Amino acid sequence: MLRVIFGLGSNLGDRAANIAKAIRLLDESAGLKITQVSSLYESAPVDFLDQPDFVNAAAAAETDLRPEDLLAAAQRIELEMGRVKTTDKGPRVIDVDILLYDIVEVRLPDLQVPHPRLRQRAFALVPLLEVAADAIFPTGEPVRWAIKGVDIDSVRLFSKEVASGEVASSPKGQASRNDGTTR
Ligand code: ADP
Ligand code: MG
Repeated sequence: MLRVIFGLGSNLGDRAANIAKAIRLLDESAGLKITQVSSLYESAPVDFLDQPDFVNAAAAAETDLRPEDLLAAAQRIELEMGRVKTTDKGPRVIDVDILLYDIVEVRLPDLQVPHPRLRQRAFALVPLLEVAADAIFPTGEPVRWAIKGVDIDSVRLFSKEVASGEVASSPKGQASRNDGTTR
């Protein structure tokens, strides 16, 4: 089993509920089991500034899927949740990115892992390190070192918990828990 870290973001509608739903759908995907979910963090948009603030989170999962299958799962969930591509880098109901695929580097035309902008994005690094403080880049460099290069004050805690009743829906038929903590 490999550990994949997803980065999730939303700035339309009920942002926290959207992230919770996406994590639930990931967990329900074949070949994927969510093991840890971060707190929710809020930050101002960075690329395209004239849009609402984002809520972001990270989720760690165990998987035996290939990176391209993980991308397909992420894109299926984006579509299923009604993401409509308007402006590039513009507002979205849900964005599901693959931040890390274990310590493997992926260089495909439509998929680069580690996520190409991970090192510059406090809103991705902060939740990632909450669920995977020990993560290392394929270069061998600890991911936590990258935090020195970003403005962590641009990211504020939005909620300790992902919306209850969402991620709570336990994987593969296990008893559910509603406290929003990780499993
Ligand atoms: P962004 O997430 O950068 O705001 P999009 O979600 O619109 O942008 O993604 C654009 C494209 O990024 C996707 O079609 C996908 O093929 C590509 N992509 C490359 N690497 C990754 C990755 N690690 N995770 C998710 N998408 C990726
Ligand atoms: Mg994306």
